[in-house]
Amino acid sequence: MHAMVLNQIGAPLEWVERPDPLPGPGEIRIKISACGVCRTDLHVVDGELADPRTPIIPGHEIVGRIDRLGEGVTGLSLGERVGVPWLGHTCRVCPCCLTGHENLCDHPQFTGYSRDGGFATMTIADARFAFPLGESGEDAALAPLLCAGLIGWRAYKIAGKNAGPMPNIGLYGFGAAAHILAQVAQAQGHRIFAFTSSGDIKTQNFARELGAVWAGGSDEAPPEKLDAAIIFAPVGALVPLALQAVRKSGAVVCAGIHMSDIPSFPYRLLWEERKLVSVANLTRQDGVEFLKLAPQLGVKTSITRYPLQQANQALADLRAGAFDGAAVLIP
Ligand SMILES: [Zn+2]
Ligand SMILES: [Zn+2]
Repeated sequence: MHAMVLNQIGAPLEWVERPDPLPGPGEIRIKISACGVCRTDLHVVDGELADPRTPIIPGHEIVGRIDRLGEGVTGLSLGERVGVPWLGHTCRVCPCCLTGHENLCDHPQFTGYSRDGGFATMTIADARFAFPLGESGEDAALAPLLCAGLIGWRAYKIAGKNAGPMPNIGLYGFGAAAHILAQVAQAQGHRIFAFTSSGDIKTQNFARELGAVWAGGSDEAPPEKLDAAIIFAPVGALVPLALQAVRKSGAVVCAGIHMSDIPSFPYRLLWEERKLVSVANLTRQDGVEFLKLAPQLGVKTSITRYPLQQANQALADLRAGAFDGAAVLIP
């Protein structure tokens, strides 16, 4: 197999050849056909997450076909198309696992961070955490659903739980996750207000093309109060801005795994029962729900393809905001 490997935090990924891995009990081997590039991959490469492991193969939006089954795997078959998300393994015995919060497992493994991921031609996955993808839809177009789509879906559900009815939803940072969630939320009758970096007219136009009723800079006040705001950009300074934009008892959801420090802000921004919450990882239930719903709602991902060996370029372009939607690596 071949892979783009992170040998050292901050260094470029390196193209390597390795012996083909063998699946252990309960695992499957997947021949990868596409892997999305997520902002979390940048956080991994930059060493912004706790306990970085190197060498590691990043990538946690994997689409491919099973080419080998480990001992004891049931319910999946050779040749079946599957997707592998960020949550790659859980312990099943910690309090979080036992109470239905496997996204918060005390001893988890994350794909492309604590176990090797999808910037490769092949990967090994825990069979319990591989989602059957069926045969409709193109591999590369499905890849961003595995994280950008899923985390957006979980953030949206948590926003609804905390804000109550939310006709007006603000999305801060209009990249891979927001461009998928905007379609889901609008199909379910919500109005989308898109916030980008100040002056990023290109992304604001992209948001309008996808149906946003308003798009502007994150330093601008929206024309109406928001019921909920979801922050996808890793920028702590957006938290007080989003709180200022939501109505009484509205909710601000931080959906990223990493964020720069949140500046201090006056208590009145949180007052009147506004809620500020974070979203961590995903549960398999989130995946089952979302992967069923997305095709029903006609979600279309906007993708830019890169050959696997150009993973460094894809990461640099993501950092620079050089493309709309999501980047996908093709082995
Ligand atoms: Zn656990
Ligand atoms: Zn991700």
